[in-house]
Amino acid sequence: KSHVYKFGDKTTDGNSKMKNLLGGKGANLAEMSAIGIPVPPGFTITTEVCTEYNLVGQDAVIEMIKGEVESAIETIEGIMGAKFGDNENPLLLSVRSGARVSMPGMMDTVLNLGMNDDAVKGIAIKMNNERFAWDSYRRFIQMYGGVVLGMKPHSKEDIDPFEEIIENLKEKRGIDLDTDFTVQDLKDLVFDFKAVVKKRKGFDFPTDPWDQLWGAVMAVFNSWNGDRAVYYRNMHGYPADWGTAVNVQAMVFGNMGDSSGTGVCFTRDAGTGENIFNGEYLINAQGEDVVAGVRTPQQITKIGSQRWAELAKVEEDDRRTNYPSLEELMPSIYEELNGYQEVLERHYRDMQDMEFTIQEGKLWILQTRNGKRTGAAMVKIAMDLYKEKLIDEKEALLRIEPLKLDELLHPIFDPKAIKKSHIIAQGLPASPGAATGQIVFFADEANKFKNTILTRIETSPEDLEGMNVAKGILTARGGMTSHAAVVARGMGKCCVSGAGALKINYKTRTLVVDGKEYHEGDWISINGTTGNIMEGKVATMEPELTGEFAELMKLSEKFSKMKVRTNADSPKDALAARNFGALGIGLTRTEHMFFEVDRIKAMREMILASTVKGRKHALDMLLPMQREDFEGIFEAMAGLPVTVRLLDPPLHEFVPHQLAQQKELAEEMHISLEAVKAKVAELEEFNPMLGHRGCRLGITYPEITEMQTRAIIEAALNLKKRGIVAYPEIMVPLIGTKAEFLSQEKLIRDTAAVVFQERNDSIDFKVGTMIEVPRAALMAESIAESAEFFSFGTNDLTQMTFGYSRDDAGKFLPIYIEKGILKHDPFEVLDQEGVGQLVTLATKNGRKTNTTLKVGICGEHGGEPQSVAFCYKNGLNYVSCSPYRVPIARIASAQAEI
Ligand code: PEP
Ligand code: MG
Repeated sequence: KSHVYKFGDKTTDGNSKMKNLLGGKGANLAEMSAIGIPVPPGFTITTEVCTEYNLVGQDAVIEMIKGEVESAIETIEGIMGAKFGDNENPLLLSVRSGARVSMPGMMDTVLNLGMNDDAVKGIAIKMNNERFAWDSYRRFIQMYGGVVLGMKPHSKEDIDPFEEIIENLKEKRGIDLDTDFTVQDLKDLVFDFKAVVKKRKGFDFPTDPWDQLWGAVMAVFNSWNGDRAVYYRNMHGYPADWGTAVNVQAMVFGNMGDSSGTGVCFTRDAGTGENIFNGEYLINAQGEDVVAGVRTPQQITKIGSQRWAELAKVEEDDRRTNYPSLEELMPSIYEELNGYQEVLERHYRDMQDMEFTIQEGKLWILQTRNGKRTGAAMVKIAMDLYKEKLIDEKEALLRIEPLKLDELLHPIFDPKAIKKSHIIAQGLPASPGAATGQIVFFADEANKFKNTILTRIETSPEDLEGMNVAKGILTARGGMTSHAAVVARGMGKCCVSGAGALKINYKTRTLVVDGKEYHEGDWISINGTTGNIMEGKVATMEPELTGEFAELMKLSEKFSKMKVRTNADSPKDALAARNFGALGIGLTRTEHMFFEVDRIKAMREMILASTVKGRKHALDMLLPMQREDFEGIFEAMAGLPVTVRLLDPPLHEFVPHQLAQQKELAEEMHISLEAVKAKVAELEEFNPMLGHRGCRLGITYPEITEMQTRAIIEAALNLKKRGIVAYPEIMVPLIGTKAEFLSQEKLIRDTAAVVFQERNDSIDFKVGTMIEVPRAALMAESIAESAEFFSFGTNDLTQMTFGYSRDDAGKFLPIYIEKGILKHDPFEVLDQEGVGQLVTLATKNGRKTNTTLKVGICGEHGGEPQSVAFCYKNGLNYVSCSPYRVPIARIASAQAEI
């Protein structure tokens, strides 16, 4: 069995299918040489060797692969006409890590391996360039010391010992640039670099090229188990036994004078997706110079160069002389590169990100990979490739990472501004988007400034209006399904939740992060897509929904059998969702309507009423308001089904908790303050989520169910008169027993019958239930005998199946995920293994007794792609999610079908 795979000179042992064995990079190098791309020759040590290394250690592994490595090096020597370890004509190598997927924390590249005090002289003579030889040597020690010997700074405060030496020398010599160093300076640097290695590490810098090579190979293997790599692996659920491959390759030099250079290019624009070949290069430079940002890189194409000059305010003459494009400077090299980029894109059928080096007029392609891109570019590139017939429509849909569509649907930060921003803390990316505003701590002060960020320890239903007014919502507590997160997503409002590092003091109106104090009115910016919290103003921009986005959505329709509805509580949200292609409403949370100023009073009166008569009086005031709400929503969703859920939250959420408000209420209702206080105290519960809520309210206060049913039916009848069709589906929340459902169903049907009689007219409607208590899932077969539809409330179902409080889980879930006890936050990604069993079971059993049972999901998981795929697999009729997630769910639904 081979441990080492060779590539280069148009022959190769491996191919691009061998990613697991050769890593992403290694597989690509093999494939590229197979299709005639000029890659510098080299070899890949397989990922299996890494796994073996972890079991048997360094010596045994070297013993195992030594022969193969020696033979591979001989092959390289033959192609390059140089010899590894030779003094006159030394072959220099690069060593890189390469796991199956590219991963932060893995070992960086080491270049110029093979350099030592003898080789440097050989190189100087061979290349007739002493300066270049010594420059390569000092770069090698710096890189090898940094990444192999672990001398890289570990924190911001740490200083890089090599950089320190360079800076000192520059100061001493009164120069600014590396390029100003003389040969003697470079020799001094090498001397000082070696000295600092000896001082820090206690041993001499390795001079034997083979020692250097084995050291670098082992460092790659070790980096697989480095802290950052392990953290990243755990986060993504990549198993430890994947291991990493090591790629060893002949060095080619971009810093051999003015006919050499190096660069990075993209076959299409990674920001916009436009089909424009683009990239940057530097003459007389090595790879890291382009990334390091010391010199201004020049553009590959003439057009790109002109665009750049416009932005950089560089005159055309200046541009042509000082910053010419590769196309202008080296037309034949450019033509060759342009040819390869076309070949590579056609071969990989995706946008490529390529690295190249020109060594004395000869072009080498160092690597290619599918380029990272923005959400907008993702959509445009997929649709363009489809139109260019490089991929078919299914492939185009599969190319979409549904969650990345978020970026297209919300305001975004200006990428330039974000680069310069200062991140002060991080929370959960609860609702995507970008928001910049002045800090306010109280919902009723959300309009104190023009743009505000409502900054709270947590939010409650009372904060609803303020949340609506604020540009963004930031909370110190609460997870992905906390009140703030759910409501914000519904509103399409940017929200960062559960940022534990925030110390919020309502009394002093201050926010302390890491010892620094921020006050009300201070500017702050939050990124709901990444969870980053930044100081000050960061510029935002409105996204454009390009033609390709619409085309993509249309394409998805062809494949999505499972429908997508939306969770919406207002006509505005319903319309927004409908524009995104929602085919109805899967959940209207009626309680949200009760928090508006004029309604909350009637609601409180209803709650505080001590008699049924008093309660009915208050409900009579609420009825017309509810009816109006429903008319608006039904109209927005005309012709499509609308699921309206009866009142769900505990009544305690509706009563005032502050003394001033309690006094006010007492006066309004002409009762004593004590009576108000007593009622508030009476409503308080130890476990409100498991308390007096859901259908338990409708059963104890049937008047509420009656009022809501009446409002729904009357609204539908009113619309019917205007020629608008409404399909209400009345939903009973939180049932655990069939009897609970039957009791509510009877009330609903009786009320509807009364209204029909009064109006002498009728409409079609359905009565169904949420399945969100585990017992209801277990009893599905009998419940479905009466219920016309099921809707899985997977927020509560997850809460009750795991026994994790939705509102408190933010305290321990991040630690669970960090420790690998859970792979995902189960409130975000449906736990298919456990909670999913209840979904599968209830769907299957429900349909046993009711073959026409409509089944959907309306928990937050309805907009999460993996969970959507699971729903599809289980034969659900629809998923329902917040308006801004509708396009995501539609793509996920189509992908599930493909
Ligand atoms: C649920 O529990 O999943 C649900 C949709 O209801 P709510 O989030 O309002 O409790
Ligand atoms: Mg629920």
